[in-house]
Amino acid sequence: MSTITTKDITDTSSKNVLNGITPHSHIKNLGLKPDSIEPEYFELDGTSGMVGQLKARKALAIISKMILKKDVMGKSILLAGPYSTGKTALAKGLAGELNQQILTTINADGGKEEVQENVVPFVSFSGSEVYSLELSKTETLTQYFRRAIGVRIKEVTEFICGEVVEIIIDRSITGGQKQGKLTIKTTDMETVYELGTKMIDNILKEKINAGDIINIDKANGKITKLGRSLSRSRDYDAMGVDTKFVKCPEGELQQRKTVTHTVSLHDIDVINSRTQGVLALFSGDTGEISKEIRDQIDNKVTEWKEEGKAEIVPGVLFIDECHMLDLECCAFINRALEMDLAPIVIMATNRGLTKAKGTQDITPHGLPADLLDRCIIVPVEKYEAKDVSMILKIRATEEEVELNDDALQLLTKIGQETSLRYGCNLILVSNQIALKRGSKIVELQDVEKAYLLFLDSKRSTEVLTEAPVVENK
Ligand code: ATP
Repeated sequence: MSTITTKDITDTSSKNVLNGITPHSHIKNLGLKPDSIEPEYFELDGTSGMVGQLKARKALAIISKMILKKDVMGKSILLAGPYSTGKTALAKGLAGELNQQILTTINADGGKEEVQENVVPFVSFSGSEVYSLELSKTETLTQYFRRAIGVRIKEVTEFICGEVVEIIIDRSITGGQKQGKLTIKTTDMETVYELGTKMIDNILKEKINAGDIINIDKANGKITKLGRSLSRSRDYDAMGVDTKFVKCPEGELQQRKTVTHTVSLHDIDVINSRTQGVLALFSGDTGEISKEIRDQIDNKVTEWKEEGKAEIVPGVLFIDECHMLDLECCAFINRALEMDLAPIVIMATNRGLTKAKGTQDITPHGLPADLLDRCIIVPVEKYEAKDVSMILKIRATEEEVELNDDALQLLTKIGQETSLRYGCNLILVSNQIALKRGSKIVELQDVEKAYLLFLDSKRSTEVLTEAPVVENK
């Protein structure tokens, strides 16, 4: 643990990026009008991916402003509404909105930073997932909370830029080590660099010759060819080299580049957990992580923050089916919301008055009074046919499926009468049926067949109620 560096973390960060199509991959943000908290019903270019649900989106837009001003600390947001009305989609839209606003702030700083796409982590789980055989409820919740806290790590890289005057490579290999010298000319001086095997291999691979303009990364010696020197005045911009040179006091041409990566506190915990290590990040099988490790990580991250190497970004933790959480879990969440390092907790439920889990008490949304008291409740309403149709159209585009008008109409009817999610699920199935008969376009008959082959929950329940009841011994 004592040797942990920001580099160890950023080397493993790429594995967090999932590039697949997921049920909510079309949602990018809340889709607000420019400089406003008013949502667009649907952006024609479809950039946000959100449709309708105007009141809830406006409420979340206001909340996103409050989050940035840190006005929702210690509170949670509760999305309450019927099945498949977009509660998860709305939470994902809020995460995207926060991400966009943070990125705008970074760019407005004038900094030339390369930022990973998602600065604000979005983590979702269903209330029933806390009941696992492997982990205690509080360990599961702690892991989810720490997954939703981002650590934005800054790596500043310095480059020397100049024109290659001469390269001498000693090809006689001594003990596997190639040697050589590289002379580069910066604005007013020539500098000679000793070359090791790696740098020589790099020079040969990049086909670097005298007269080339190159970058040498000071941290790892990586050499990159930027282009050829055009004239003695070295008009870098005219070469189309997209880079900014700064004259440093020694007269060398230098370039500083800040690259930022966002990883979660949980990623850092796992990498440093002696028994688990990096591989556990891929398998997800992290086991219990000791309090000692977590305290050390918190101290280290605080240190990085003080040194300006890292920034903490509270992400969005979405807890679906929050009525499945028992009193112990609710007490944990109550406490966790008070902590300095807390993500934005959004809970969702499709229940009204119901029994609080593990008790006989009937409470609103099945939540105990103290947790409910902390919640800002946002109602989510049922969709109209035009909303359902538009969402199905977006999902079809996302899944690269072409629907004709009749197929879309039937899917819309099904989506409204059963659930939007069932309608979405039928898109891919209908496409398979269409492909089977040699058509790239899904037609009415394909949706009809899919509807008969795959049941929605209501028809499935009906089938099972007709079957004889077998006692579960
Ligand atoms: P449940 O109550 O069953 O947990 P939910 O309210 O969370 O459901 P979602 O899963 O968000 O519903 O919605 C079902 C599908 O419809 C998802 O693919 C979601 O991305 C999409 N969707 C829902 N609402 C919208 C919307 N307003 N704009 C775009 N897509 C939406």
